[in-house]
Amino acid sequence: MKQSVAILGATGSIGQSTLKILTEHSDDYQVYAVTGQHRITELVDICLQYQPKVVGIPSVQLDQFKKIAHEKKLQPLPELVFDEQGLVEISSNSEVDIVMAAIVGAAGLLPTLSAVKSGKRVLLANKEALVMSGDLLLSEAKKSGALLLPVDSEHNAIFQCLPESYFSHRNENKQPQLGLSQILLTASGGPFLHFDQSQLENVTPAQACKHPNWSMGQKISVDSATLMNKGLELIEACHLFSISEHFVTVVIHPQSIIHSMVQYIDGSTLAQMGNPDMCTPIAHALAWPKRISTSVQALNLFDVQKLDFYPPDHQKFPALNLAREAMRVGGTAPTILNAANEIAVQAFLEGRIKFTQITNLVAEMLNQVSAQVASNIENILQVDRHVRERSIAWIEDHGVPL
Ligand code: NDP
Ligand code: MG
Repeated sequence: MKQSVAILGATGSIGQSTLKILTEHSDDYQVYAVTGQHRITELVDICLQYQPKVVGIPSVQLDQFKKIAHEKKLQPLPELVFDEQGLVEISSNSEVDIVMAAIVGAAGLLPTLSAVKSGKRVLLANKEALVMSGDLLLSEAKKSGALLLPVDSEHNAIFQCLPESYFSHRNENKQPQLGLSQILLTASGGPFLHFDQSQLENVTPAQACKHPNWSMGQKISVDSATLMNKGLELIEACHLFSISEHFVTVVIHPQSIIHSMVQYIDGSTLAQMGNPDMCTPIAHALAWPKRISTSVQALNLFDVQKLDFYPPDHQKFPALNLAREAMRVGGTAPTILNAANEIAVQAFLEGRIKFTQITNLVAEMLNQVSAQVASNIENILQVDRHVRERSIAWIEDHGVPL
């Protein structure tokens, strides 16, 4: 029987790659539900091609959806669900087997949590949800039996390099298990790897969104340029592999051929390699423990020839240490980091702050707002809202006059 898939964030970069794989494996999977936010034309096109039963949109987009669906002769209309509640309904729908969590930012938290609580196979792309509520998501997964599989290429690579039994040994003391000594988290270094401080001051959103190796949504592209993406991924790795942050080393590897590595106490280093294309980790998480084909070209090492590795420059890119510090503090500190970063990235994309002010704002919020114990989801969401308000006020005081 075909497995039924819900794609939260189907109109985005990860959503599109997921649809591509599902098309290539339509004998095994069917698209049950899709969601979108602003790109309604693209969402209607997805409906025309995949005929999902359920579609999630913001309620303010209803008229637009109906208008475009009518123009494009979408028949029959799918069942429509609205706003965050609608996304939560999709992720907990009993007809859904697999949820691709590919909404960007904190907006993906409640739908992802709902998929985890409902015991689904959850393909986790939305790293912000894990950063904000890692302990909660993992403990809910343990209760419900949900399978939380990492789609982020680095975490998927680490997952592939660890023994399967690693995950039945989840430890509370955050020490590496089963002979693991450390995780080497690779980073491309982003488009500004070789820029100096004065060049960084003046980079534009268009430059920041042009990643050298990966084609991604705007927010994660800017995060890659500041290296905050690697900071978020460091926190993500600590949660997924129950390990404390000092066992995770970041390695700049500009070619993005090695997607991450693990080292063992016997001197072995295991790496997962491949051409940089998100279809590989998506297909891996979708079918695990089976392997399914993708259209990604096999790696040709004679073409690659050379792999480079550097330590990160913390002076130029302070984001990584901010994230490390937030993870060390724990509780709601990663939520503070994430909320300030989301507001800062949006303001940078809108031309309201400079590139270098993104990490200034995050550092300021981590200083100003005291972290609390992240006791429950309400508490996490309340801190998220509070930091967003303060970040907006900071931008009004310190941002570039329009
Ligand atoms: P995109 O910006 O391309 O897509 C984001 C998706 O989320 C879109 O479908 C968008 O809808 C939807 N969305 C945006 N805001 C909201 C909201 N407030 N409520 C509901 N839906 C919303 O991002 P990516 O696909 O690049 O990234 C998605 C997630 O995956 C991120 O967390 C990112 O960090 C992670 N990731 C991405 C990778 C990549 O290669 N792209 C690699 C590893 C992780 P619409 O477009 O219709 O507005
Ligand atoms: Mg990644």
